[in-house]
Amino acid sequence: MKTWRYQFSIRSKAEFSGNTAFSSFIAGNVYVRTSIFRNQPDITTIPAKGYYSCQNWSMLKRLYGCATLVYVKFFRCIGCKSSYSPERIRSCPVMRCPKCNSALDAEYDYKSIQRTIRKDEFMRECPGHWKYWAFMPVSDISMIVAMGEGGTPLVDLTRLMTQAKKFLVKYEAANPTGSFKDRGSSLEITKAVTWGRKRVVIASTGNMGSSVAAFAAFAKLRCKIILPDFVNKAKIAQMKAYGAEIELTSGDYADAMKIAENQVRSDPESFLAGDYPWRCEGTKTVGFEIADQMYWRVPDAVIAPIGNGTLIWSVWKAFRELMITGITDALPLMIGVQAEKCDPVVRAWEERTDTIVPIENPRTVASAIACGTPIDGLLALKAIRESGGVCIRVTDGEILRARDELGSNGVFVEPSGAVSFAGARKTGDLLDRKTVVCIATGHGLKDMYGIE
Ligand SMILES: [Zn+2]
Repeated sequence: MKTWRYQFSIRSKAEFSGNTAFSSFIAGNVYVRTSIFRNQPDITTIPAKGYYSCQNWSMLKRLYGCATLVYVKFFRCIGCKSSYSPERIRSCPVMRCPKCNSALDAEYDYKSIQRTIRKDEFMRECPGHWKYWAFMPVSDISMIVAMGEGGTPLVDLTRLMTQAKKFLVKYEAANPTGSFKDRGSSLEITKAVTWGRKRVVIASTGNMGSSVAAFAAFAKLRCKIILPDFVNKAKIAQMKAYGAEIELTSGDYADAMKIAENQVRSDPESFLAGDYPWRCEGTKTVGFEIADQMYWRVPDAVIAPIGNGTLIWSVWKAFRELMITGITDALPLMIGVQAEKCDPVVRAWEERTDTIVPIENPRTVASAIACGTPIDGLLALKAIRESGGVCIRVTDGEILRARDELGSNGVFVEPSGAVSFAGARKTGDLLDRKTVVCIATGHGLKDMYGIE
């Protein structure tokens, strides 16, 4: 698919009526539908500045009818349960609880979202990341930074898991930078642009850094990435290709996060990207898409790897939101999988505690999930417990065998992308006669460990 980049600033009188708004913005295939969202305010002259990738300029010019769709009521601390207004959180350089430093979770006005969506049309529309923007904290669609993320394949590999009724792999490698991280990055860089920030700082184990670097480069923002020195060289090369500035630390991911957070605190023009609330809100679209691609039937179980815990929580939150807004009527079991050499969430789950004991300097072939101090670990536990799921660990050997098995069936993933499938192999009879979706997070070309 050929894409062009446009930077534009146009004032135009949008020609839409009061119950018309943009339903979908899908980079690479920008189009306008007039019937999904209703009850929007009248659209008037809106100055738009944005960075888009799209194929159809004439359609893009029609993108000015951006309705306001922000339904975040407040952010709640997962630790001390304090709640904060979006304005209060915006003023924090590091988006964590100002009182106890725990992760924050956005809570929405779901009744308003439900009223906004015209359900039949919404359900028929093609799946794609920005289709679900009513469930994201975006105030102005003209500011969205999008490069065609989402809309990834859901591959039927039931032949690999014959005891399941259906076994599907959500192939997130098909995102622009080769991992699911692009969903969160698209929303984060949209926020950075909306807030007028000039520079993005992020700590990463590889994939999130290259994803943020790409979206920052696309939006013409400077990008600084702090990495533990064990990060795969191909991923560092990918970040450099996007023009990011790299800083290596001999510490682990938790140390890299501290460095990134300190740099942002001393520079008000910087935006801190990473596993903070915006990323979770963008990552939810993995879950929306899974349900959408199954014609709005909810799978019995979803299996996801756990690094920082953001992915599994986001997917669980997405399924809950679909049910709250009356789009679906069931919830899946959430099965979390960690590498044996970095399993702090599994340990907490086994010991039935909310205390996640950090693992120092974790090393595993699944380097993308080597997060010894998982920032959203409590949220991952919450997702697994609320759904009645399980949390399991897999060895490096099992991860590599799973990677090879997926590869020999046409689905090439990096070792951390095979963690969920390795977990499926170990889950036992829990998956019998169930419809199972396994999330394969990153492309095999990113880390070809052990492939000669
Ligand atoms: Zn707190």
